[in-house]
Amino acid sequence: MPELPEVQNLINTLAPKVCGATITGASVLCERSIAEPNAGLFAEQVAGHTVLGIERRGKYLDFQLDSGWHLVVHLRMTGRLLIFEDGCPAPAWARVALFLADGRTIWFSDLRKFGRLALTRRPAATIAELGPEPFDPCLDEASFHARMAGRRRPIKTLLLDQAFIAGLGNIYADESLFEAGIHPLTPAGSLSRKQAATLLASIRAVLQRAIANRGTTLRDYVDAEGRRGENQEHLNVYGRNGQPCRRCQTTIQHLRLAGRSTCFCPACQPLASEGQHPE
Ligand SMILES: [Zn+2]
Repeated sequence: MPELPEVQNLINTLAPKVCGATITGASVLCERSIAEPNAGLFAEQVAGHTVLGIERRGKYLDFQLDSGWHLVVHLRMTGRLLIFEDGCPAPAWARVALFLADGRTIWFSDLRKFGRLALTRRPAATIAELGPEPFDPCLDEASFHARMAGRRRPIKTLLLDQAFIAGLGNIYADESLFEAGIHPLTPAGSLSRKQAATLLASIRAVLQRAIANRGTTLRDYVDAEGRRGENQEHLNVYGRNGQPCRRCQTTIQHLRLAGRSTCFCPACQPLASEGQHPE
């Protein structure tokens, strides 16, 4: 599933091409891809709007249209947004077409059909309640640590909770915990202030590196021009179960946590023993 860096890279490649463009109509090939309003009304109501900008909130893309309308997109597992020149045939798994006045088309393609588009005047109601953005300057070490207080859930599970922090998924939660040297099963509330500070810095470093590498493509992710990311070449633990740690050569291990695969280095990320309270 695309996470924060992939959604950001998609916006970085799409926004310069579509900001200022006017949508003249839409074709909905898969009705369930439209969350709001219904498929018929969507095509009718999206016509005539100009794209003013695209912002990211967590893993959502928020197209700001004129007259206070928003087109909110969540890619889920396999959603893609592609910009095609006039006359190009539709991409594979095409679900929704947004036709632009200059002849180009924004295609929403989605193999698994879990992605959703919503045309709304109230984006806050569509975007599920999200926690702070990782790069929000208001999210400092103290507030990040305070948000973990009393939480007994494993830190890995908490990092996946979009209401705790927005935008992290399985890849970047695992990579951030490796970077910070924290075992994924560590109860969140047991982290020291220093560990929380290290984790926040690690999350930011891991996400920044992934954005610089134009996202991670394991299978499906591509940017607005169909290009794959390169960050998969730089992952330290995710998907590297059974391979040697790049730092210490210990074999990367794998466990299942809340139904999700979790990879970590048992040497670089030791689990503090019961009763041990690191300062
Ligand atoms: Zn290691």
